[in-house]
Amino acid sequence: MLKTDIIIIGAGPVGLFAVFEAGLMKLKCHLIDAIPEVGGQLTEIYPKKPIYDIPGYPTILAGELINNLMEQASPFKPGFTLGERAEKINKQVDGNFIVTTNEGTKHQAPVIMIAGGLGSFEPRKPKIDVLHNFEKKGVEFMVKDPEAFIGKKIFISGGGDSALDWAIYFAENNDSSVGLVHRSESFRAHKDSVEKVAKLQKEGKIDFYTNAEVIDLKGDEDLTMIEIKQKDQPNIKVKVDVWLPLFGLSPKLGPITNWGLAIEKNAIKVDNTLDYQSNIPGIFAIGDVNTYPGKLKLILCGFHEATLAVQKAYKIINPDKRFTLKYTTVQGIQGFE
Ligand SMILES: Cc1cc2nc3c(=O)[nH]c(=O)nc-3n(C[C@H](O)[C@H](O)[C@H](O)COP(=O)(O)OP(=O)(O)OC[C@H]3O[C@@H](n4cnc5c(N)ncnc54)[C@H](O)[C@@H]3O)c2cc1C
Repeated sequence: MLKTDIIIIGAGPVGLFAVFEAGLMKLKCHLIDAIPEVGGQLTEIYPKKPIYDIPGYPTILAGELINNLMEQASPFKPGFTLGERAEKINKQVDGNFIVTTNEGTKHQAPVIMIAGGLGSFEPRKPKIDVLHNFEKKGVEFMVKDPEAFIGKKIFISGGGDSALDWAIYFAENNDSSVGLVHRSESFRAHKDSVEKVAKLQKEGKIDFYTNAEVIDLKGDEDLTMIEIKQKDQPNIKVKVDVWLPLFGLSPKLGPITNWGLAIEKNAIKVDNTLDYQSNIPGIFAIGDVNTYPGKLKLILCGFHEATLAVQKAYKIINPDKRFTLKYTTVQGIQGFE
């Protein structure tokens, strides 16, 4: 079991900035996120949109801000458990918390910061009766490790950025062609990606089915075949090893509501007059996931909350030490070895 000073649940902008602020106080952090990438809403919903209200940046792309936050946190060597949802929190008699993920991974720390935003991003699943029989047996809703799919016959469903980006990736990195199935003829994805898919289709690297959808799955144990319904054409059955229905992710507060925390307006109530601690001492909530009088769901507000929360975390972890705030311009950045 991994032991650290602070377990941060949620690797969005606020969780990432908390690593930096904790690092300045010599506290080590480990982040857990349900999605396989860092960045929260900025990565999942609007990576190419410019943000105009980050202090000191008249404009910055959301994806760029996340890259910068990762760079800023890197001297403090945070650990990451990505693609796993924090499911349970148990308090031990010695005062430590153990966080267990949906994959059974366990982490231990005396302090937890929940930076879970609107909740964990969960895949939107297609309505196929036998779907659950094939989950993780050929049906995957996220690409955690693309290498694991190389050499396999892959079909992807969806018309957004994620579906097209992965179709392009596998068309360019796999020996056999990739199938792409989309319900309509228009796409929500970036124009560049749509053009790239059309080019790869001409080169015979993508089998493209528009006005079509996967309606049934077959296989004894693992998935071996999908059935595709097409507009004005007969259904077809195609042999596959992997089907990736990539219909986007929607946030769900989910397990956070089972941890005994005071919840109001679908968010965790915290004490904003002190330190953003929840009703459970040692568990803080920062960023979009918390609520208090006057709360604004803005990135810069989350950064402020993270900064104050780690001050209190330091006192919990080092009850006998005093911390004197020094400017970074004075003390510089002393990262971890
Ligand atoms: C289209 C759009 C435009 C926006 N524009 C702006 C803007 O211009 N300026 C601005 O300040 N704000 C803007 N926002 C709001 C801003 O994105 C949020 O305030 C910010 O993302 C909050 O950051 P966060 O780190 O608190 O949470 P998020 O970014 O929501 O990240 C939370 C992370 O926690 C993870 N998580 C949750 N529960 C669990 C769990 N149980 N286990 C594991 N992981 C979990 C989620 O998967 C997610 O990755 C915008 C939002 C949207 C949707």
